[in-house]
Amino acid sequence: MAVSATVVVAGAGLAGLAAAWELSRAGANVALLDAERRPGGMVVTERPGGPGGPGAKDGFVVEGGPDGFLAAEPDIQELARDAGIGGRLVDQRASGSSLWTGRRLEPLAEGQAAALLGIQGVTQSTIDCGFRSFATGMADLVEALVGRLAPVFRPAQGVTGLAPATRGWRLSLNGGSTVEAEAVILALPAWAAARLVTGAGVPAARHLDDVIYDPSTTVSLAYRGDQLAAAPAGTGFVSAAEWGESGAAVRACSYSWLKYPGRAPPGHALIRAFVGPVDGDPAGAAHAELAGILGIRGSPLWSRAFTWPRGLPRYKPGHAGHVAAVRERLTRLAPLAIAGAGFDGAGVSACVKSGREAARQILMRLDA
Ligand SMILES: Cc1cc2nc3c(=O)[nH]c(=O)nc-3n(C[C@H](O)[C@H](O)[C@H](O)COP(=O)(O)OP(=O)(O)OC[C@H]3O[C@@H](n4cnc5c(N)ncnc54)[C@H](O)[C@@H]3O)c2cc1C
Repeated sequence: MAVSATVVVAGAGLAGLAAAWELSRAGANVALLDAERRPGGMVVTERPGGPGGPGAKDGFVVEGGPDGFLAAEPDIQELARDAGIGGRLVDQRASGSSLWTGRRLEPLAEGQAAALLGIQGVTQSTIDCGFRSFATGMADLVEALVGRLAPVFRPAQGVTGLAPATRGWRLSLNGGSTVEAEAVILALPAWAAARLVTGAGVPAARHLDDVIYDPSTTVSLAYRGDQLAAAPAGTGFVSAAEWGESGAAVRACSYSWLKYPGRAPPGHALIRAFVGPVDGDPAGAAHAELAGILGIRGSPLWSRAFTWPRGLPRYKPGHAGHVAAVRERLTRLAPLAIAGAGFDGAGVSACVKSGREAARQILMRLDA
């Protein structure tokens, strides 16, 4: 069955949510589709507990994807204020990070941790302003946006094809249905957008598939405070060891309960490790290493691993030129835009900016 919407936004990660928010605020008739049932894309916050009495995980806030953003980046904070949750922005409580040399933790100059982790597009001056998050995790923002966008959100609607139609575009969805729209925003990972835009008649879009999505695993581990020899200094550490070298699994680690307020109940510690490829259980490997580095006694109270087969995107040289060439070509077709981490920067604030800008361009095209 074919249905229609003026603008279809495909992808309900932060970029797609920001785009749909901007469009619906401007009064456009929007449909927001995602292949998954859960909105938010890489933003995954778990707040265990709830009915059924106190449990071991009550009072913890566990992030599977992003846990914060640079305080100097305005876009995500502006969107939070627009969505009525500006009061839920929280500042980091600790500052500074360390380098694990394999023998000891040594203080790192601000900004060195990002460089060692290969995080692109971050300048020293923005790092100097510190980091922020939301009171009960990054999903606070997703929930606020989805609260208003719920009537237009259509989960489990993966886009499988895109073709020109009489007035705009026809999108094929998994399950065989179609949607027609005057305009489309693809807020999808680069490889998914590359396939759809190439199939819609833009050969240059195949270069979008050059973006590299490295696999990544985060492991959150909870302890009683008295299991740690002493509270560590700063927000976490980066490991100097090569992955796999002498069995090293932990690439970096955040002291989540020290970094942001409200991440663990009083008297408890919550640690999040970024783990490289390991044979077997990543949580067991992370605990074994952290026990030695941080002087942790006994086993974790619990652990939670999130595996991202395609995590943070990395751009090859020439990326910005390829994206600009595709966007230039799109101006000659019915309104179609690309947005998100695959194109305009991997940080959550850059994704919000990318989504909102795509929406503004589409609104201008529809107005013209
Ligand atoms: C482990 C980890 C930690 C991170 N930490 C930070 C951090 O601390 N700070 C920071 O700023 N950034 C961080 N990032 C990066 C940041 O989270 C992402 O770059 C950002 O959330 C991506 O948003 P997006 O909307 O562009 O894409 P996504 O969140 O990937 O959303 C894309 C959406 O498209 C949907 N989709 C895919 N294919 C289709 C299809 N065919 N049809 C319909 N829907 C489809 C997906 O289901 C998904 O919901 C982290 C990322 C990871 C993985």
